[in-house]
Amino acid sequence: MKGIVYKSTGSWYLVKAEDKEFYNCRIKGKFRIKGIKSTNPIAVGDRVIFEKETIGDETIGIIKTIEERENYIIRKSVNLSKQTHIIAANIDVAFLLITLNNPPTLTTFIDRFLVTAEAYHVPSILLFNKVDTYSEEEKDEVRFLMGLYKSIGYECIPISAKTGKNVDRVKEEMLNKTAMFSGHSGTGKSTLINQLAPKLDLKTASISEQHLQGQHTTTFAEMYDLSFEARIIDTPGIKGFGIVDIDKEELGDYFPEFFELKEACKFNNCLHLEEPKCAVKEALENNEIPWSRYKSYVQIIEGEEENYRTDIYKS
Ligand code: GDP
Ligand code: ZN
Repeated sequence: MKGIVYKSTGSWYLVKAEDKEFYNCRIKGKFRIKGIKSTNPIAVGDRVIFEKETIGDETIGIIKTIEERENYIIRKSVNLSKQTHIIAANIDVAFLLITLNNPPTLTTFIDRFLVTAEAYHVPSILLFNKVDTYSEEEKDEVRFLMGLYKSIGYECIPISAKTGKNVDRVKEEMLNKTAMFSGHSGTGKSTLINQLAPKLDLKTASISEQHLQGQHTTTFAEMYDLSFEARIIDTPGIKGFGIVDIDKEELGDYFPEFFELKEACKFNNCLHLEEPKCAVKEALENNEIPWSRYKSYVQIIEGEEENYRTDIYKS
């Protein structure tokens, strides 16, 4: 049977099969996925094929294969072993909730999110929340930021999770997809999820008690069905995305508006910093590229991500 992993304890997986039933599944033997060395072979969101096995009066599933992942997000453990843990796989859309104040969301934070999403190949959408609270001046700022990110190619939606404004547009974007919500605490993630699915009590079927015995109580990501055709992945203790290790040379590739110009730089390994005849710097001088984006780029390159890292690793 085919199914999707909704939850994992590390050795047991809760899989929702094509028959819409949940099965407690496990793997037999060693599982290797080419290319990634991770502490967990299977993650929430993985599409698997399993065989039913009946032991006594219980039917469990034995996972035989994992389908190739569209994408996946990881977390590196803070200890010395630097082991990789796959948080979730096959994310169709990642939303970032942005507020101008209470709390403020800085453009550098938005840009880091977008860079990470690009590096993970996760499509992303920016949600400018709390529009019901903004003054005319602040509304202008939202329009400015939306214009900036739309010009790069990112979808932007002004919403109010409180009044429900444009929540339908968010729903449309989620239809038949698996979504994730990120954003600083206080930006309205829970309020929005509550608007999207008022009846959702964020509980699905659970891994049977008997299999939980002796398990670590580590919090893993978990997937939930919404009341309309959509799923969300909740990552307790992880502030949205983890960070990927990005080489300096690669970083520009994750700024789509820089990437477009790369060919025109004199040096093909141009970092767009001090090099002569840099097309990115020229575009910047001509105001064809937003300064805030370049500032974020330089900040990331200079490795000022300490705060960001500790945020992400906090669990
Ligand atoms: P989370 O930490 O991201 O889950 O944020 P919450 O959903 O808990 O929201 C934080 C606070 O902002 C709560 O007091 C919400 O009622 C409030 N809030 C969230 N969205 C909106 C909105 O669109 N408008 C207004 N006025 N308040 C909002
Ligand atoms: Zn350049």
